[in-house]
Amino acid sequence: MSVVVQWQELLATLPQRVLGLSVWLLAMAAVLVPLERRWGLRRQAVIREQFGDDLVYFFLGGIVPVFIVVLVADLSQWAHTHGPAILRTWLAALPFGWRVILTIVAAELVFYWAHRWSHEWPWLWRFHAIHHSPKQIDWLVNTRAHPLDLAFSRSLSTLVLSLLGMGVMGASDETGMATLLAVVVVFNTSWGFFIHSNLRWRFGILEHLITTPAFHHWHHATGATMFVNKNYAGLLPWMDRLFGTYFLPPGRYPKRYGIDTAVPDNLVDQLLDPLRPSRRPQDGDENAAH
Ligand SMILES: [Zn+2]
Ligand SMILES: [Zn+2]
Repeated sequence: MSVVVQWQELLATLPQRVLGLSVWLLAMAAVLVPLERRWGLRRQAVIREQFGDDLVYFFLGGIVPVFIVVLVADLSQWAHTHGPAILRTWLAALPFGWRVILTIVAAELVFYWAHRWSHEWPWLWRFHAIHHSPKQIDWLVNTRAHPLDLAFSRSLSTLVLSLLGMGVMGASDETGMATLLAVVVVFNTSWGFFIHSNLRWRFGILEHLITTPAFHHWHHATGATMFVNKNYAGLLPWMDRLFGTYFLPPGRYPKRYGIDTAVPDNLVDQLLDPLRPSRRPQDGDENAAH
């Protein structure tokens, strides 16, 4: 199916997508706002600075990347067909549970590196800096991201998982696997909102197994190089241990959030600025290269 036809189909279902996103937004707010008010790490308003912009980012992030990931659909199909047959045969022979676990770990591995490159490569950092610009962190910061930043990691993930015979394409012939992967995606997305929440909960030994608000808040910390550019994982914190970027001191939280990179104040410039060829490196851009 051509890209144009797929875009037309996506456009036709845009009202349903917006409705679905609205329900999702209300559900996340209904759960996380009361928790933040009861167990908040910091006293801060729900309707805080740039709340309106972040609502726009929420919807942009739920719509625009879908149109971009379509661009790699043919390549993903090719990768799925021409991926290493031996790997797919081995995967197909594994018990269902193991295939799910391996798919989750592979997806997390791709996310880890896509995220890390978004910090380390200056051109990608232009886009990712928007996610790191807030000086206050709460649940809605999760989706404060340039749509091309989100599209990059999702496209890479789609391509690599297709090549490995995993993900949606690997599961397309098997209803159970596809359904379970959909559940995992919903859980992953919800978890992203949770780990951004302004919550002071700590999880003891579980913090070694799964990411938590404290873990991800350190990812947004600014200040000493000891904790800048750490904790890239979205779900599995041991991925950071494996690659030497783990930082989670017991009982401690960052003093400050944000970045030194200059990010425009208004949303339109935030979206366009990374695309402008005239843009010159700003003070603090070297932060991205640590
Ligand atoms: Zn980041
Ligand atoms: Zn974040």
